[in-house]
Amino acid sequence: MANDIIIAGGGYVGLCVAVAIKASAPHIPITLVDAAPRSALEKDERASAIAAAAARMLDQLGIWKRLLKDAQPINEMVVTDSRTNDPVRPVFLTFGEAGREGGKEVGGEPFAHMVPNKKMVGALRKRAEELGIELVHEETVAGFETSAGETTVTFGSGKTAKAALLIAADGVNSALRSQAGIRTVRRAYDQMGIVTTLSHERDHEGRAEEHFLPGGPFATLPLKGKRTSLVWTEPTDVAKRLMAADDFTFELELETRFGHKLGAFEVAGPRKAFPLGLTLARDFVRPRFALIGDAAHGIHPIAGQGLNLGFKDAAALAQTIVEADRLGLDIGAVTVLERYERWRRFDTVQMGVVTDVLNRLFSNDIGPLRALRTVGLGIVDRMPSLKQAFISQAAGRGEGNPLLLNGEAI
Ligand SMILES: Cc1cc2nc3c(=O)[nH]c(=O)nc-3n(C[C@H](O)[C@H](O)[C@H](O)COP(=O)(O)OP(=O)(O)OC[C@H]3O[C@@H](n4cnc5c(N)ncnc54)[C@H](O)[C@@H]3O)c2cc1C
Repeated sequence: MANDIIIAGGGYVGLCVAVAIKASAPHIPITLVDAAPRSALEKDERASAIAAAAARMLDQLGIWKRLLKDAQPINEMVVTDSRTNDPVRPVFLTFGEAGREGGKEVGGEPFAHMVPNKKMVGALRKRAEELGIELVHEETVAGFETSAGETTVTFGSGKTAKAALLIAADGVNSALRSQAGIRTVRRAYDQMGIVTTLSHERDHEGRAEEHFLPGGPFATLPLKGKRTSLVWTEPTDVAKRLMAADDFTFELELETRFGHKLGAFEVAGPRKAFPLGLTLARDFVRPRFALIGDAAHGIHPIAGQGLNLGFKDAAALAQTIVEADRLGLDIGAVTVLERYERWRRFDTVQMGVVTDVLNRLFSNDIGPLRALRTVGLGIVDRMPSLKQAFISQAAGRGEGNPLLLNGEAI
């Protein structure tokens, strides 16, 4: 019986699960197939907030040290709720102040770092290659057929291969999820997230800001050097207008939201817009088949948690497979894979619901909701234990975390 694993999707989560399995079970052959050319992710100009728990896992896997020089700690997080043209945005909620303990997690580590996506993919690929994982680009997993002892995978090129397990890390519109007959709960937000990078005169001192504006959250996230990554949510028609606008108009709109706290600024990267929605898979596994990352759950970027959830999946699936393999069990058996599903489904549904409610509660200008938000944020801001709970959540601390998220090897 084959004990090979084939992974469809060489994005951040597909690469991470490959490394996490191979680091503890080097005898399992792993092939990772990605539809896009190798250069595609090297051009991803986005940056992601990487929670402390994910950073601990990346450290354990020999990846984090390679990212450190490009990773900007988030020392402080400020939340405001205002209208787009308000001259001053009253601060309702702060998590820590630059240089003080508040923005730090228990043990003194920042609760998150901002890491450029292209640095992340470079470090993950390097580690995957060191461990002997086969990376194939410009190839797709087109289909699969499962029998009792194995699954036969057919590639877009027409080749076939046999494996004990197919892991689908093929993103939010996963075609393999549909082929496996797994249904989803979906909600389109009629919003887009515009992403770009700004450079500015003054230092941000590691301060992240999230302004809840009627069109959607406007998040500014600190990068190394005097640079900031923007995730700017607007209704789809407004976002399309902004994307089509000339540089002058775009910067003018930006100015009403970003202001001049950090002195003069300029747009220092391309603009890109992503349609936003909620997609939750009803099941995560089938015999010899497991969903992971955005293929299992696509959520609103309002809390910067999408990739962190995917990294948690990677840690839980890797632990499930490695421990089953050590016991001599069949790693593709659905009874083995159900442990992974039980581990991850509740957490992902919970985060999907929280981001959905936050987005609907904040992305509007309805008077009574505005009053409710003001009271709610004020209460949280005055309760240190509640704030610490939010910080711990954002840092990825949780009961029953997989070993890797605690920085321990499987
Ligand atoms: C605007 C925005 C900001 C965000 N900010 C954050 C943040 O700050 N922090 C955070 O944690 N998350 C953030 N996220 C979420 C994060 O980007 C995603 O959760 C993450 O990229 C998902 O990674 P993935 O590997 O699961 O999927 P993807 O990155 O979508 O990768 C899927 C891969 O599968 C390949 N593929 C598709 N079909 C096939 C096939 N049939 N065969 C082979 N290959 C295939 C594709 O080529 C692709 O490389 C943000 C998202 C958005 C839209």
